[in-house]
Formats: sequence, C-alpha cells, structure tokens
Amino acid sequence: MQFRAAVLRAPRTPLAIETIEAVDLQPDDVLVRIAAAGLCHTDLEVIEGQLAYPMPIVLGHETAGVIEEIGSAVAPGRCGERVVLSWNPHCGHCFHCERGQPILCETYVGHGPQAVQFDGTTRLRLGGAPLRTMFYIAGFAEYAIVTDACAIALPADMPLDRACLIGCGVMTGVGAAINVAKLGYGDTVMVIGCGAVGLSAVQGARLAGATTILAVDRNRERLALAQQVGATHAATVPDDDALALAGKLTSGRGVDCVLESAGNGAAFRLSAEACRAGGQIVWLGKAGVNDDVAFRWGSLMGEKRIVRSSYGGARPARDFPRLARAYLDGKLQLDPYVTRRLRLEEINRGFDDLKAGRGIRSVIQFSRRSASLTS
Ligand SMILES: [Zn+2]
Ligand SMILES: [Zn+2]
Repeated sequence: MQFRAAVLRAPRTPLAIETIEAVDLQPDDVLVRIAAAGLCHTDLEVIEGQLAYPMPIVLGHETAGVIEEIGSAVAPGRCGERVVLSWNPHCGHCFHCERGQPILCETYVGHGPQAVQFDGTTRLRLGGAPLRTMFYIAGFAEYAIVTDACAIALPADMPLDRACLIGCGVMTGVGAAINVAKLGYGDTVMVIGCGAVGLSAVQGARLAGATTILAVDRNRERLALAQQVGATHAATVPDDDALALAGKLTSGRGVDCVLESAGNGAAFRLSAEACRAGGQIVWLGKAGVNDDVAFRWGSLMGEKRIVRSSYGGARPARDFPRLARAYLDGKLQLDPYVTRRLRLEEINRGFDDLKAGRGIRSVIQFSRRSASLTS
C-alpha cells in the first residue's frame, strides 16, 4: 500500500511530503490510520541534528488513530479500535524488563537508534529503499504500522486530536509526578518549564494531591496556563527569585519535589537548589548528551534523590486509558495544549513555532479524505 508521509532526508533540511510504501503486516502488527500527531521537542532534536538517526526517516511519536488492519496473530476484535500509540515496545523478559523498567528493555534500546521496528526491520519503503521509523511509530504519515502491544485502546468518546498528546508529553509529565515521584497529599512541588511536559507535571502533581505547586518559566503566558491547570504559584525567570519563593512557601526548607522539564543548565541547578533535604528531583528535560552541567556540590547534599526519566515511568497499557479517562472526567485538561492545528503539508511551520518557543503543541490533523490508498 502507498500513503503520504513527511520524510526527513538529512538534518537541518525541511521535511518533504512524499508518497511512501509499506510492506505486508507481520503477524503481531497492526495498521493504524493516523488521525492526529503532536510535534514534540524530540522530533525537533532529530531535525536539528542533535539526536543522530539514520536517514531517510519518518519522525512523529505522539500519535493517535484507528486500527484498520491487523496481523494474523492479533485479536480479531481490535479492528476499528481507537488507539494512542506507545513509543516503548518492550520484550517483557530481558534483564531490565524483569526489573520493571521497560524503558530500558534491551531490544528497545538496541533497535531504537537504528530507527527500525522491534524485530530489527522496517515496514516502510521510499522509492524501493528502506525508510527508517522514529521511535517505532513514524507518526507523521497517514498510516503507521506498529506492534499490537503499542496500540493502546481508548474510550470510544476520547477525541483523537487530544488523545495523541497522551502518547508522549502528557504521559511523561503526569507520570513523573505520579509514577516516578509518587507524590502525595499536601506535598510541595516546583515544576520548572511549562511546555506540554511541564504543564502535565503540574496536573500530575495536582491529581496526586500536592497542595503547593510552584510553576517556573521564562514565559508569562505559559505560567498563566500553568496556573489555569493547577499551579498555585508562579515565578518568571529571570525576573523573580524562584528559589527564594520556594523557600518562603516551605518555611525555608525547600520543596518536597522538583519536576524539571526545561532542559538547560540553569534549570538543572535550580532543581537541586530548590529541593529540600531528603526530597526528590525528577529530571525530564535534556541537555546535549556530550554537554557538561555544573552544580554547586552542596546543592546535591542532604540525601536528595535524583532521577532522570524519559517517559514518566510509563506503563502505557495501564496509564493511557487512565489519562484518557481523567480527560473525559474533566480532571486532566488537554484542550489548552493544542495551540495550532496543521495539515501534514504545513508541518515545517509547526516546527518553526516549536523552535521559536511559540505556543504549546502543534498537532497535525489528518482528514480521512486526504488518505489515498492505492492497494
Ligand atoms: Zn516526545
Ligand atoms: Zn525487555
């Protein structure tokens, strides 16, 4: 079959809309007609060349759609299911899977950088040559072929243009608060960086019962949004002294937990300074893998627990339906995240916005009519 996709042929070049081909489904595969895909910062890192992947490649890993075809080993009832896609397929029985850390699954970590499927091959072709698949999904396309276990069914009334956000940014932020930090009632929390992940960390903290949630960002609009979704206090950097405010709110002790999602040295340093002795720090943001980040050593003392998390401790089959339920029950706000809706042809404009820090999330919306199946 053939369909359209946004293809990246080389770093620092625009994505090009191309007609690509997919091979037949393997027994555990499902074919998902993509309805919506969010533009995440990790996609931008590949475009900018900070994250090296073989090319040509189809990016996109924050994705929701409808299962249209299934492989021979997939339960027949899955056709027609509305799904959000997980980017963490895992074997379930390797060293790390057995220790409850599927994000470190040996096959997942081994094949991910090659941008192939879990079985080490790619299902996509461009001009007859193999086409790589980012994060086991390749969501910037009219269709995706993923392994059955990565297509997580949603309640039928969940709108797919917001469901897609659950697949990466929302899972990472809410999961950091609930799965990783395991926040509890009355906790004091600082969230640094209020993009999609940080806003979700704010909401995760609120859902867990945190009663003081201090949001920190450079951008006042983002802080206003953070307060709309649950932050009790806000500090604009560099104008406000976020560290002093954290002290003032906690009798000088520092906050119980810092959820960091800005990804720069100043943010990492603030996270360590603002955390109380015995508290915990969850780093969600990223510096360049070869960058050094400096800390005042004393800020790391005091039995602080520091965790770096890339998917918020996600167990997608458990967590995605919960997050969708929370949205449908009015407990998790997702509507304000979608600051721009684009057609696939407009995808480069969405990345321009992301690079410039405009808006929260651009979402590609695929109309059913635009899909041109030729087989
Ligand atoms: Zn992402
Ligand atoms: Zn494994």
